[in-house]
Amino acid sequence: MTNRYTQDKAASAEILRLILQKAAGHPAGFTPPTYAVWYEFLTGINPPLSDAMNDLLKTNEPITSEMTQELFDCHISEINPKAQNTFRANLQKVLGNLAQVTETTDGETGRFSAGLQKIGEKLAGELDPPMLQHLVGEIMLDTQTMRSSVDALQGKLHESKAEIEKLQQELQNARSEALIDPMTSVLNRRGFESQIKKLAVDAELKDKKVVFMMLDIDFFKKVNDTYGHLFGDKVIRTIAEVLKAKVKGQDSVARMGGEEFAVLLPDTSLQGAFIVAEHIRQGIERGKIRRQDKQEDVGITISIGIAECDANGDWIDAMRRADEALYTSKNQGRNRTTLYVAAP
Ligand code: GH3
Ligand code: MG
Ligand code: MG
Repeated sequence: MTNRYTQDKAASAEILRLILQKAAGHPAGFTPPTYAVWYEFLTGINPPLSDAMNDLLKTNEPITSEMTQELFDCHISEINPKAQNTFRANLQKVLGNLAQVTETTDGETGRFSAGLQKIGEKLAGELDPPMLQHLVGEIMLDTQTMRSSVDALQGKLHESKAEIEKLQQELQNARSEALIDPMTSVLNRRGFESQIKKLAVDAELKDKKVVFMMLDIDFFKKVNDTYGHLFGDKVIRTIAEVLKAKVKGQDSVARMGGEEFAVLLPDTSLQGAFIVAEHIRQGIERGKIRRQDKQEDVGITISIGIAECDANGDWIDAMRRADEALYTSKNQGRNRTTLYVAAP
């Protein structure tokens, strides 16, 4: 269930047929972004994209390649290339400005030092008081020019420093945005993977066992169909809150896509993880989620699969095993936790 696209071959062929039919009515070519946008829209697996598409379709405007690329960049591609380009352009501008002032100051410095040298040479000769006064005047003038040039440089340096700091902050935000799921504020798949990679090099944890927990909301499609998408979103956010509240500081919670979550428990035994999982599962089963408009409480359950591996071991395989255990939980009736056991 780590795959974002869960449709089997027959279902995806049907979706392909639909994409051809729907996208044919728009000028955008059948490029990979077009395909991805329509695929995610038609399967409904990407609600923010669906909202944007629905808004666009309502206008009856033809969907161009540019519009498709925009949808792809904003809602599918995990790093927003537009944000990256803007960042790069802004940084180039700041550096360009800086180079220009430095060059001007450099020129002034050269002139200043040549001027001082000339005055030094004159001072070595015979000088009457008016000449001396004239030279002092020249030194003062040159010093003043130099000073304002240095002041300008300092001002520009100050400005550039502030701008670079702002850009750094923006980059930092863009980076953490790329690792965080905006709907729930827990890690996204990319953030989860980066967390796993950190474990493998963590001096204290790299030789320990880690446990992977995969969690999936039961019959979530029915929740959406019965109570609507907005309530479905509320359920997803509530589950994320429960997960955050039930794990320790060194554990990581991620939304892997749709209604699937993963938890990473470093330095934990399988038995320990099972207790945590049951705690989470029972907590969700007991707690009801309120529908504000109807003043009605809805019961939700989740299924969990657990597997362990070494912190620097094959985590992709461990996640696959946790997924397999999750499938067992689903097949055995849902609302349960299964520990992965290797087939005999
Ligand atoms: P199972 O118990 O086997 O897991 O059944 P299920 O219905 O939960 O699983 P299925 O994979 O068939 O359906 C998942 C649904 O989750 C389909 C999709 O529309 C919905 N979904 C995915 N992401 C979101 C989201 O962000 N918000 C809402 N409201 N629904 C979402
Ligand atoms: Mg699912
Ligand atoms: Mg489900």
